[in-house]
Amino acid sequence: MHELSIAEELLEIIETRARDAGIHRVERITLKIGEYSGIMPEALEFAFLVLSRGRCTEGAEIEMQAVAPEYLCKKCGLTQPAPQEGCSGCGSFDLTLKRGNELSIVSFEGE
Ligand SMILES: [Zn+2]
Repeated sequence: MHELSIAEELLEIIETRARDAGIHRVERITLKIGEYSGIMPEALEFAFLVLSRGRCTEGAEIEMQAVAPEYLCKKCGLTQPAPQEGCSGCGSFDLTLKRGNELSIVSFEGE
């Protein structure tokens, strides 16, 4: 399961940052997940729950914010949602995904 290794990586980052910040128990984690990241939020949340047992993130509430994909036209600079047939401004197919494939930790709280 793809999400299991991602959750483990995120947990390790959170554990390290929590330790540095003197947090012993993480109560709330906010993540940002791009809709094009290929990650299933439910699977990630489940993996988090399983991996959190006995760790500082056990029992933490996880909030996931979905990030809609957004493309940038390299020709005219227009930012737009997933285009169907080229750029909606100039028709160019030279588009690059600007956001929507990310996975990041927005914040976490605890004591
Ligand atoms: Zn364009």
